[in-house]
Amino acid sequence: MKHANISIFVPNNGCPHMCSFCNQVKITGSAKQPDANDIKTAVENSGLFGKKGVLREIAFFGGSFTAIDRNYMKELLSCAHKYIELGYADGIRISTRPDCIDHEILDILKSYSVTAIELGAQSMREGVLEANNRGHSAKSVKDSSSLIKGYGFELGLQMMTGLYGSSMDDDIYTAQEFIKLKPDVVRIYPTIIMKGTHLEELYVLGEYTPMTLNSAVDLCSELLCMFGSNGIDVIRVGLHSSKSMTQNFVAGPWHPSFRELCENKIIIDRCIGIIKKLRLTNKPVRILVSPRDLSKVVGQRRLGIEEIKKICPQVEVKPESSLKLGNLIVEELKKS
Ligand code: SF4
Repeated sequence: MKHANISIFVPNNGCPHMCSFCNQVKITGSAKQPDANDIKTAVENSGLFGKKGVLREIAFFGGSFTAIDRNYMKELLSCAHKYIELGYADGIRISTRPDCIDHEILDILKSYSVTAIELGAQSMREGVLEANNRGHSAKSVKDSSSLIKGYGFELGLQMMTGLYGSSMDDDIYTAQEFIKLKPDVVRIYPTIIMKGTHLEELYVLGEYTPMTLNSAVDLCSELLCMFGSNGIDVIRVGLHSSKSMTQNFVAGPWHPSFRELCENKIIIDRCIGIIKKLRLTNKPVRILVSPRDLSKVVGQRRLGIEEIKKICPQVEVKPESSLKLGNLIVEELKKS
């Protein structure tokens, strides 16, 4: 089923301190805390009323939702809940910190028809959490994940790659630990440096260097494969493009189509792997793919096909409508 969020931002609300990379006002472009009127406007203008075949959730993002003032939190939930009863939405999605989950809060969330809880876990390495001023442990991610699942909420885990003090191996370890927690969905955010963050200061001092775009694509492609092969849906890779985001971007592996770059790399690597396995290197080769995969193999600015040409200069890629998404056939082109 398709999924649509009606996003409401509570920028940095409830956060006990600023994490090294974070400035939600600059990322989301929203400085104001929402009220019932903002929810009304967002929901009624969403165009989702009565929409069939789409799971519609009112989503509170950009802060530590379960740590905000309790009365204010209930006010927001109550308003969102009213729109579920009126048929504008099917549930409520919230994102919060792993150390702000307990039985009491989960009981409250359940009573307002919250359906999904996303935890900003970011890393499962204690040293990385500490270096980035997260203020919670990897254990709190494990404990709150199992509590959330025990209550029957959808569990989402968010991770960041290339954080200050993190290595590629640390990020792969984080993904391995996530997989053990069996989340329903995952989001992957390569770390980028935004204006007004501690990370920017470290960058200016020369103490932090963000990952290059190529390295981030290599790493995130691997993470996508890891989650995919464990049946875990990755619902986001990379930050959304927004005016505020681009205005406040300092450095880092940001690309408006970051996920597409990763998916292109995955399928191109598969093509190269099959060519090598079939010992077709340097032979004329035809690759047949699902029409929907054609642009992935060709790649942005034909970079994909150029990569394949490095081992097979005479390669042609053709759409084959009988092939399902993700399936491909590699065959030697015989001279007629
Ligand atoms: S990363 Fe999350 S917990 Fe940290 S400051 Fe930003 S919104 Fe708050």
